[in-house]
Amino acid sequence: MTPTGRRVVLVTGGSRGIGAATCVMAARSGYAVGVNYRHDADAAARVVETIIAAGGRALAVQGDVSVEADVLRLFDAVQDAFGPVSALVNNAGILETQARLEQISVERLQRVLKTNVVGVFLCAREAVKRMSTRQGGPGGTIVNVSSRAAVLGAPGEYVDYALSKGAVDTLTIGLAKEVAAEGIRVNAVRPGIIDTDIHASGGEPGRVERLGPAQPLGRGGTPEEVAAAILWLLSDAASYVTGSFTDVAGGR
Ligand code: NAD
Repeated sequence: MTPTGRRVVLVTGGSRGIGAATCVMAARSGYAVGVNYRHDADAAARVVETIIAAGGRALAVQGDVSVEADVLRLFDAVQDAFGPVSALVNNAGILETQARLEQISVERLQRVLKTNVVGVFLCAREAVKRMSTRQGGPGGTIVNVSSRAAVLGAPGEYVDYALSKGAVDTLTIGLAKEVAAEGIRVNAVRPGIIDTDIHASGGEPGRVERLGPAQPLGRGGTPEEVAAAILWLLSDAASYVTGSFTDVAGGR
């Protein structure tokens, strides 16, 4: 169960999209928020300003989640400001342009795996070290941001991205069982087609408009709709939930 009264969350990739929505919603729920960003300091500062203007607590922390030294620095910076991290949202992720398998280079595959898998692994490992009751920690919660692509495979679009999210799912299952007795819950959300800038970086800026109407609920989702599921999984309302996957995909 999340320790009450001492809620500190680190959200990776928190400067925009699902991460930014999660930061703002977490602050509204009473968390002090570490807003991680890699390059865009201005965007992270805007998220922090929004939170502080509403009476919350937040700190922007630069770092690349795929770099071990950065990850240690991130957790230290948030801990120095607010106390030990009690919740981690492993949100940072990248999507490269749509391509068939033959066009996907090893370098590209390695880039995708480095952020989407190594980054999630490093942050989860650091969180467990600091949260585990077995190691004197207070317990905590982790939510990994996977994707419906992990299940659908993204054929002809980005199988590299899909396989990275499949790895996130497998880590979620294994870790949930490994640390269940140490006061840590680990869950994942699997967004469907959500209206964020990731589609532009994937070479398809109009993806949400194109595919949204074909979803069972008739539209793409919003970052806030994913953040709401993440916040529920982090909260004590989900105290008996671990190793689970919550699809936020409009029925996709
Ligand atoms: P986004 O591109 O707006 O946000 C991703 C964030 O991660 C960016 O701020 C980016 O700078 C950050 N990031 C990337 N690599 C990083 C690194 N190495 N270190 C630190 N930060 C890094 O996209 P989003 O849609 O908000 O994506 C958030 C998560 O949701 C991702 O994991 C993505 O795979 C997942 N997701 C999104 C959708 C969707 O339709 N938008 C669907 C399924 C899953």
